Amino acid sequence: MALELRSLGRSQLKLSQLGLGTVKLGRNTDVKYPSEFELPSDEAVVALLNEASRLGINVLDTAPAYGCSETRLGQLLPEASGEFQIISKVGETYDPDSGSHYDFSERAIQESLETSLKRLNRDQLEVVLLHSNGQDTEILESGALATLLKARDQGLIQAVGLSGKTLEGGYRALELGADCLMITLNANEQGERPLIDAAADREAGILIKKALGSGHLATDSQHQLRQLFQDSRITSAIIGTTNLEHLRHNCAAFDE
Ligand code: NAP
Repeated sequence: MALELRSLGRSQLKLSQLGLGTVKLGRNTDVKYPSEFELPSDEAVVALLNEASRLGINVLDTAPAYGCSETRLGQLLPEASGEFQIISKVGETYDPDSGSHYDFSERAIQESLETSLKRLNRDQLEVVLLHSNGQDTEILESGALATLLKARDQGLIQAVGLSGKTLEGGYRALELGADCLMITLNANEQGERPLIDAAADREAGILIKKALGSGHLATDSQHQLRQLFQDSRITSAIIGTTNLEHLRHNCAAFDE
């Protein structure tokens, strides 16, 4: 398979260039995708995971805020082939009736980690990110990254970082010792690009979210992905799809 494995910065982790985003496995309300959708059946999820593994994808991105995504992965991964590294998050929870709730206190982060490990049937998660609501600097100054670093030192996580929304937040997270950043980067959203240089200076990894603009730039997905990976410092782009044909088409961008 043509997908490369790339080091996540200075960590020991090696992630495939494309990862599978799993919002659509667990949540279909208050999302910004171009069209409405039903959550896929268990059989469809297992088929998606099998195909992702066959294509060389070795990383899944989930979060407590993605509805039942973590729970379904915990239940269905044992039925699927292949080994996946897991990226999850802390700080945001979501309720279809009341929306998103944010809590980056030490207690909430520790509880969230315990819950994610239990749902996913794991003793350790490969990557955990602060799931920012945009108040990146405030979240970081409150000590939230320090809580994750402590959990990393206890062996519960291998690499920690920020899924943020601002340049300032990205820079500050790197100063505070983040192993990686998850940034938005696509043809229409380039504002966080300077963080790639900043992360490289500190040997931190770069993960990309919304590479296809949450589906609004997906008509020429192969072109978008090839453009993105002209920068060899990007570790992995997390693409959200529940469609096997789309998954194959996206991976085929790396066939040459
Ligand atoms: P995305 O990956 O840019 O786009 C996903 C959308 O593109 C889906 O609706 C998918 O629909 C469609 N798509 C994918 N490949 C396609 C193809 N070849 N042709 C046509 N349509 C295609 O956006 P995203 O899901 O918002 O972000 C990706 C992942 O990043 C998420 O799943 C999540 O894991 C993570 N994320 C994190 C945060 C954060 O704050 N940390 C925020 C947003 C996202 P189909 O299912 O029909 O393929």
